Amino acid sequence: MNDELRHIMEASDRIVFFGGAGVSTESGIPDFRSADGLYRRDSGTRVPPEEVLSRTFFLRHPDEFYTFHKANLIHPEAQPNDAHKALAALERVGKLSAVITQNIDGLHQAAGSKHVVELHGNVYRNYCMECGKRYGIDVVVAADGVPRCECGGVIRPDVVLYEEPLDQDVIAEALAELSRADTVIVGGTSLVVYPAAGLLEAFRGPNLVLINREETPYDRRASLVLHASIAQTLAPFIVDDES
Ligand code: NAD
Repeated sequence: MNDELRHIMEASDRIVFFGGAGVSTESGIPDFRSADGLYRRDSGTRVPPEEVLSRTFFLRHPDEFYTFHKANLIHPEAQPNDAHKALAALERVGKLSAVITQNIDGLHQAAGSKHVVELHGNVYRNYCMECGKRYGIDVVVAADGVPRCECGGVIRPDVVLYEEPLDQDVIAEALAELSRADTVIVGGTSLVVYPAAGLLEAFRGPNLVLINREETPYDRRASLVLHASIAQTLAPFIVDDES
């Protein structure tokens, strides 16, 4: 285990984790910007993934949006990895107050985390754009093309698309947690997606820890930077709190 990280964790009473797609790559879900991420692959679409995942594209071409969404963003087979498990364990023992995530895959909750602030929503929640009726993931997976509500409306995922604002209550919750934290661990995120990355400005505590395979724009501000696997780095914190 990294000694410096262990010291910081031992001295912390209110840790907040702030993560992104890199937290789930070791669960088999590709991120966007790594060398083998979705932005570097041939996605099979005629426009770049960033554009497919925009509000304008979704409203104009829901069929193509759903082809991409189903092929790349829904992973029912994925299981939490050691990073998700360690964060859930740290919450159970009272060290960690919240996980703030840009991910939409629900894996933190699957690992047992209770306080998860989802900045960009969750693919397992869906709703009708006409009547607001809420759906799970099954209707999306089962649909041949665009999933439709019984009222005839288009069902959309409850995720934040490019060009859409983040939910104000969610932002407020994230800011409140970050401003009260003594340690923030940032992991598995390129920190280039705004406004999410900008929320870190609310953190005023002594320890900013960055765990990411590649450099990020925040590296120079951090008290500890580990260019390493997030699952391997956090695995030692899977404490057995049941005993
Ligand atoms: P990103 O793809 O921009 O960056 C991921 C970062 O994680 C990269 O810097 C990469 O070096 C690092 N990384 C990848 N695997 C890692 C590992 N195992 N250990 C340590 N570091 C690792 O992702 P982002 O910053 O989260 O922003 C992209 C957007 O993509 C987010 O808004 C998110 O909603 C969305 N997204 C989510 C999922 C998901 O829910 N699992 C998957 C793809 C994209």
